[in-house]
Amino acid sequence: MKRTYEYRALPQKGQARALDKMLWMTRMLYNAALEERIGCYAKTGKTISAYNQMKSLTQIRKEDDEWRGISVFIGRGALKTIDLAFKAFFRRVKSGEKPGFPRFKGRDRWRMLHLETNYQIHDGKGKWAHLTFKGLPGKLRVWRHRPIPADAKQLLARLVRDAKGWKLQLVLDLPDVEPVAVAGITGIDVGITHFLATDAGDTIPNPRLLQLELKRLRVEQRALARKKRGGGNRARQKQRVSRLHMRVRNRRKDFHYKTATALLAKGNSIAVEDLNIKGLARSKLARQVADVSWAEFVTRLENKAESAGLQVHRVDPKLTSQQCSGCGEIVRKSLAVRVHDCPHCGLRLDRDHNAAVNIKNRAGGSPLGVKHGAVMPACPQALKSENQHLC
Ligand SMILES: [Zn+2]
Repeated sequence: MKRTYEYRALPQKGQARALDKMLWMTRMLYNAALEERIGCYAKTGKTISAYNQMKSLTQIRKEDDEWRGISVFIGRGALKTIDLAFKAFFRRVKSGEKPGFPRFKGRDRWRMLHLETNYQIHDGKGKWAHLTFKGLPGKLRVWRHRPIPADAKQLLARLVRDAKGWKLQLVLDLPDVEPVAVAGITGIDVGITHFLATDAGDTIPNPRLLQLELKRLRVEQRALARKKRGGGNRARQKQRVSRLHMRVRNRRKDFHYKTATALLAKGNSIAVEDLNIKGLARSKLARQVADVSWAEFVTRLENKAESAGLQVHRVDPKLTSQQCSGCGEIVRKSLAVRVHDCPHCGLRLDRDHNAAVNIKNRAGGSPLGVKHGAVMPACPQALKSENQHLC
C-alpha cells in the first residue's frame, strides 16, 4: 500500500538559497531537454529517449562543477518528469483526446526536487529530524509531526516548494491491511445541496469552502492585477494569493478526511456512484463541482478504507436518483424536485436519500430496492417493467 507522508521542512537561509538554486538548475535542464526533444523530432521525426538525455546529463556533470556538486538523482528527476509528460501526451493522443503539448516551465510551474532514494533522515530532538543529501549545505530541519511507521519501506523522497516554504514528501510502502469482516454497506450519494446523503437518511452539509474564501480571493486577485510586473510588491501579493488558495485546499482536505473517517467508523464498506466527474466539471455546475471536489473525496475515501481493511464499491450511476428504491420503478423528476414521491408504491423520501439507498442496493448486487422503512410492497406491474428500465 503506497502512501505519501508530508512533513514541513525548515531550511536555513543558506539552505533555502541552495534549494532555490537547484530548482532553477533543474528547471533550466527541463526546458533544455524539452527544446532538444522538439528540435530532434523536427529534424528526424524521431523522439529522443530519456536514456539518451540521461547520458547527456552525465556529460554535463563531467564538465560542470555546479551539476557535479548536487545529487545526480535531482537532475535525473527533471529528465524523468519530461519523459513522463511526453508519455502521457502520446498516450492521450492515441486514445483520441486532445492533450496539451508538454510546456516550457516558468518559475511558478516548477517546484519539485526529486531526491529519489539518495537521502538520509536522522533523528533530532523530540519530533525534529534532519534530512541530508548531496548538494545541500548542512542538515535540513524537518518537523516530524507524525512518526514514519517502523514497518514502512521508504521508496523515494521529494522536496516541494509551496506557498509556505518547503515540504518533504516521503513515498512509503506500508504493509497491506488484511480485509476485516464487513458489518454492512453504507450507500452514499454525493451532491451539491448536501455534500453527501447516506442510505440511512443522514446528510452532511456542503461546506462550500471556496465560496467562503472566494470574496477575499477576489479582492486579493484584483490587487495582484494592479501591481506592476516584476516588482517586489507583486511578488508579495502573489504569495498572499497562493497562500489563500493553499488555505482552501487544506481546509477541504481536512473536511474530506474527517468525513471519510466518520463514514468508515461503523465498519461498513462504502458504495458510491462511479460518476463521470469530468463531464460534470465541464457543465455550468463547474464551480460548485470543483468546490465539492467529489473525485478528490472519493480517492481519499478509498485510501482511508484501504487502511482500515474496508472497501469502496463504485456502482453504475445510471438513474440512481430517478429510480424508486422501494419498487424499482423509474420516477422522472428534474433537478429542482427535492422529494422522491413514488406513484407506484407510495414511497416518499428525500431525493438524495432515495439515491443513496439505490447506490447501496446496487453495491449489494440487487438492482431493486430492498424493504425500506414503512414501504408498501412493490406492485407486480413495477416488478415486471423493472428490467426494461435498467437495461
Ligand atoms: Zn416505488
